[in-house]
Amino acid sequence: MDKRTIIQYLEERASDFYTLSDKIWENAEIRFQEKQSAQDYADFLKAEGFTTTVGIAGLKTAFRAEWGSGKPVIGFLGEYDALPGLSQKAGISVKEPLTTGGNGHGCGHNLLGVGALMGAVGFKHYLETTGKTGTVVFFGCPAEEGGSGKTFMAREGCFDRLDAAFSWHPDSHNMLPPGPVLANNVVRYSFTGKASHAAAAPEAGRSALDALELMNIGVQFLREHIPSTSRVHYAITDTGGISPNIVQAYASALYQMRAPYAPELADLYERVNNIAKGAAMMTDTQVEIKLLKGTSNTVLIPALDEVMYNNMCEIPNPVAQAEDIEFAREIVKTQTPADKISENAFNLAPLPWNKAGNIPIPGSSDTGDVSWVCPLSQCATSTWPIGTAAHSWQAVACGKSDFAHKGMLYAGQIIAATAIDVCENPEIIETAWKQLREKTGNHPYHCPIPSEVTPKLLESETT
Ligand SMILES: [Zn+2]
Ligand SMILES: [Zn+2]
Repeated sequence: MDKRTIIQYLEERASDFYTLSDKIWENAEIRFQEKQSAQDYADFLKAEGFTTTVGIAGLKTAFRAEWGSGKPVIGFLGEYDALPGLSQKAGISVKEPLTTGGNGHGCGHNLLGVGALMGAVGFKHYLETTGKTGTVVFFGCPAEEGGSGKTFMAREGCFDRLDAAFSWHPDSHNMLPPGPVLANNVVRYSFTGKASHAAAAPEAGRSALDALELMNIGVQFLREHIPSTSRVHYAITDTGGISPNIVQAYASALYQMRAPYAPELADLYERVNNIAKGAAMMTDTQVEIKLLKGTSNTVLIPALDEVMYNNMCEIPNPVAQAEDIEFAREIVKTQTPADKISENAFNLAPLPWNKAGNIPIPGSSDTGDVSWVCPLSQCATSTWPIGTAAHSWQAVACGKSDFAHKGMLYAGQIIAATAIDVCENPEIIETAWKQLREKTGNHPYHCPIPSEVTPKLLESETT
């Protein structure tokens, strides 16, 4: 029994996994509403011999499926939420919704969840066949898109028992992330002043809108003095009214701040808060600052990433068939100018691994929170043609294709093989934990979602 047997085992069972992934694609449920998708995964794993608990960490559509006992305890992270408004027919290269205004799997989480599930099933089969000790835990993680499902799960201690965790994401390339995704805060700033007639009694008014404008100007100046890898963006959500002859008594904005390292984000947050307080002082108004939610940056663990990358290079890459390439070219044409279309419709060879992990990815994900709690490694595999943007109808159209299935199988094989390596070489986990402690320094995990915020509250405040 070795890795090759498990890689072969997953390939032999591929059609079971493809069917499950297609079912999730068809249901296309969005954040916190993934009832059927979570149940489908849980039922599948139950049939595989896992013990399942649906509804954990206060999230009805989160679940845990567990098999085995003892060390190592390996976690596999699966997602299954779709995106609103992205309904699209599969396998065609024109925009045509299945249901007008319906949901669609524009981020490929139907593939993501099942690929991670394959990792868990493959690793379980390895432990079962070899008789080795080990615990397989698959986490059904809802609401990655704007819901921070894993952050809630991390807050409630779901990942505390793990020795290591693995996941992946659909992509145009086979690769490991070149750097961390950014830590992220969503904050509401609400200013309250005094209304009055803007011409007859301006001296009696205190403008909340003035305060908000001054805050925004202060933040524009701040941008020059923050690291170039940080981000601040905002939306004015309430201007106070539409009448210029009234001094606006209320105004509010939603701000998002991002930085490659959670403690760095905490500094940025404090500076933006000071600007808001300064704007309130300047205008004799009051400001209420409410941190609505956040996610942490990913902490990259080279000891695990190296094992995953080696598996990515060793396991045969999916081979694109002529019809895959033909379809891919048609899809790419809809997003990319003709002179920029790549020779290869799919990237087949893994991209070189940036071992230094020093190129931040300017986005955020709740997998970051898991990576602060236990060593995490994740890869991306090619499920979409080069030039396909995530969160697009094109990505939805590719979600049931033969090539997407093969990219998912490849990811599942890489994850299972990496879990096997880690199990056979316990020193990898030791080194991984050492690296996690070094990289997080004196900053233990601090959940960026305040304790009083519930998923329900979050849903209503940020949609
Ligand atoms: Zn997404
Ligand atoms: Zn995604």
